[in-house]
Amino acid sequence: MAGESLIPPTEKRESTMSVLTPTLTLEQETNPWEAQAARFDFAARKLNLDQGIWKVLRQPTRELIVHIPVGMDNGSIEVFTGYRVQHSVARGPAKGGIRYSPDVSLDEVRALASWMTWKCAVVNIPFGGAKGGVICDPKKMSQGELERMTRRYTAELIEFLGPEKDVPAPDMGTDEQTMAWIMDTYSMHMRQTVTAVVTGKPVNIGGSRGRREATGRGISVVCDEALKQLGMSIEGCRVIIQGFGNVGSNAAKLLAEKGYTIIGIAEYDGGLYNQNGINIPALIEHRKLAGTITGFKEAEAADKEELLTCACDILIPAATENVITSRNADRLRCKILCEGANGPTTTIADDILADKKVFIIPDILANAGGVTTSYFEWVQDRMGYFWTEAEVNQRLDSIMTESFNDVILYAKTHSVNNRIAAYMLAIDRVAYTTKQRGIYA
Ligand code: NAD
Repeated sequence: MAGESLIPPTEKRESTMSVLTPTLTLEQETNPWEAQAARFDFAARKLNLDQGIWKVLRQPTRELIVHIPVGMDNGSIEVFTGYRVQHSVARGPAKGGIRYSPDVSLDEVRALASWMTWKCAVVNIPFGGAKGGVICDPKKMSQGELERMTRRYTAELIEFLGPEKDVPAPDMGTDEQTMAWIMDTYSMHMRQTVTAVVTGKPVNIGGSRGRREATGRGISVVCDEALKQLGMSIEGCRVIIQGFGNVGSNAAKLLAEKGYTIIGIAEYDGGLYNQNGINIPALIEHRKLAGTITGFKEAEAADKEELLTCACDILIPAATENVITSRNADRLRCKILCEGANGPTTTIADDILADKKVFIIPDILANAGGVTTSYFEWVQDRMGYFWTEAEVNQRLDSIMTESFNDVILYAKTHSVNNRIAAYMLAIDRVAYTTKQRGIYA
């Protein structure tokens, strides 16, 4: 692929993010907002973007911070900090997930919000970008505590949410149940049921068929397309996946069904390896019963970090940000890096992987299947008519295929790498709409 460095040589000294210097700490390298901004600036420069529009699109439109009091099961009161960042509403309502994790920070939510803007534009759906998060450890909270926290977080943000304003969805640490609580809380305040206020809901209360598997399905489609580009075949194609949550487990299941060989899975508490292919449905069953992938008899235990650098055809990070950095990028041995997670690769790692000619399917394209089916859910909720799973999947497949080919064409036409091509395509679309709408004063 066009393995262009993120920062051209003449500009390397201007960037704080992509200079391979020993003085750059891992903390600086892995700040997600800085990583997003570095790529945005580079793509905007390539596009020769109007300076004023550049300033508008570089910053989020709105950042909200709420402190949420919650009555805990033991009778005490805890206060949790939550965020909602709306990066852009130029192309439609703000759209983006809510993350519950101890590592949530405003910079992370900002970066995730802007990635949502670019992602929705890459797949050309009529949404802007947003993201939310609460600093908490959902694994240590009861269902009752999570429900009370979710309802109060929703109530604090009530005037900023809505089907035409801002539509949340699940992300790490949240799920269909969380979305059901948000929908119910919002509906109680509106005095009517408003299903389209969130996506990723259970199917019986306005969710879409196919939404649960959508991000994994989208990943499987772009992997198919990448193989076609590179003249590789599914038969014998070895895949390693980091993260066996919603995205990772569904990607594994669908890829295995298509004939890919899943040779490794890494989770936070350990990894598995089987060069003949891991039986994914059996592993999903094991994880349901044991609560962990470890101890699965049909694969060898493997070191979770070493799995990232094992030889394979496709590596799919599907857990969290900053797992491919200056510390391990030169040891990666995959031909294709398909980013299931948001922001798994730092800008310095990007440069290293470009030198190694790794074909990258960037996050804002690779994991866009989730938000695309969220868009289908929002459409179905608003018309009150629901599609079959086959209809949802067929529409998703065609949008992912078309978007992949749009990005590849953009990369070839502008002689940039796939990531910068995806950013350029997205920024171009959002800038066009922003100019067309004009600046309200
Ligand atoms: P999830 O919480 O369902 O799963 C994440 C999994 O990764 C968990 O099983 C967790 O144990 C594991 N994990 C966490 N840290 C790890 C580490 N350091 N090493 C190995 N495993 C680790 O979350 P998800 O919804 O699958 O989201 C995963 C990523 O995909 C996130 O970056 C999210 O923003 C992104 N994403 C999700 C969707 C979606 O539809 N759910 C859509 C687009 C992007």
